[in-house]
Amino acid sequence: MDLEAVEQALRTAVLEAGARVLERLLESVGVGRRDTKVFCPRCAAAMESRGTCAKNLLSVLGWVRFSRSRYVCPRCQAARFPGDEALGMVNTSRSPGVQRLEARFGAKETFKEVADDLGLAAGIAVSAKDAERVAEEIGHAVEQWVQRECAEQRRADPVLPDGPPVETLYVEFDGTGIPMVPAELAGRKGKQPDGSAKTREVKLGCVFTQIACDDAGRPIRDPASTTFVGAIESAEQFGWRIYGEARRRGMGGAGQVVTITDGAEWARNLAVTHFPHAEHIVDFYHAAEHVTRLVKLLYERNPKFIDAQRERWTTDLYEGRVQNVIAQASALLPKPRDVMKDARKEIAYLAKNKDRMKYDQYRARRLFIGSGVIEAGCKHLIGHRLKQSGMEWTLRGANAIIALRCTIFSRRFEDFWEQRLAPAG
Ligand SMILES: [Zn+2]
Repeated sequence: MDLEAVEQALRTAVLEAGARVLERLLESVGVGRRDTKVFCPRCAAAMESRGTCAKNLLSVLGWVRFSRSRYVCPRCQAARFPGDEALGMVNTSRSPGVQRLEARFGAKETFKEVADDLGLAAGIAVSAKDAERVAEEIGHAVEQWVQRECAEQRRADPVLPDGPPVETLYVEFDGTGIPMVPAELAGRKGKQPDGSAKTREVKLGCVFTQIACDDAGRPIRDPASTTFVGAIESAEQFGWRIYGEARRRGMGGAGQVVTITDGAEWARNLAVTHFPHAEHIVDFYHAAEHVTRLVKLLYERNPKFIDAQRERWTTDLYEGRVQNVIAQASALLPKPRDVMKDARKEIAYLAKNKDRMKYDQYRARRLFIGSGVIEAGCKHLIGHRLKQSGMEWTLRGANAIIALRCTIFSRRFEDFWEQRLAPAG
């Protein structure tokens, strides 16, 4: 016997039978006299019943077709389907089950792969275009939900999360470019040879907590405490986003707050604006990279000294003596103008950030000094889905998928899904 043929045929038959049951259920909701009067949403007139009208709906059991009552406004001709409203199915021909699958799969893989996988694994036939449209719609709804929460955090006294107060709350943020369609890049400056841009920057932030250290005194991140927020947006908009998330996570009751960034100007400004009481640390590995670049510039003519000097200065940096590096490097500035200019830039980076490079103190206080969590986030949360070769995103499409992925990586998609039909306000 061809077992696979049998199991597939049985699945098809079972889904078919289920679909017929679902049709009867839907029809019982959609048809019949309402106890309450139906009013026009535009002009508030009482609407008149105008018989029934069939609707096709793609469910996890396949396509179903059912009738539901139609009401029309005698004044302005607006139409309503109270049955669709009761089911949360207004203006859509995809059931909640199908919408959830398309959104979750679409957050994970290309829309072509979503179409293939849903067909293969669930017997649900959708096109890549349809998967894209639905994932975008749900992602957009996720974004609205996130924005509502964020606005609440800005307005109210902080509502502290359940559980014991947070000892140390970390906030990290960074930027990473994703490829965009040409229309989204018009007039933008970038790193292409002709000065144009191929990408736009996603700003990604994360919040996590630390309550303990390991036996060697190294800080340990609380398992499953990391949540993410992000979007392609201005630094100002993103500032409110990450601020709202930190408040939601209990910043108001935290023993101490630490921000870790790469020391870029927008990140410094954001930290000053939204986290003025936090300890702002520049990621040690970024600082060390700048020291390495500096050493290479200063010793261009004497490369045999590069390794030893890099080691000395990296140790200085690690032990909180960035001032030494700045003073010694300034005395070693090379003659050639362009090299001198580049070396000065590296020194200026260290000088500007020296108050955020007290690594000896941070280590004594058992704090993280690296921004590995957000860098991993940029790579996995953003890179894996949004930076595949040949991809080009629209702003709306990218932000929808970013919203979906942030919510899924933060283990909050189910929270969103439960609340998505709740009335706003
Ligand atoms: Zn009307």
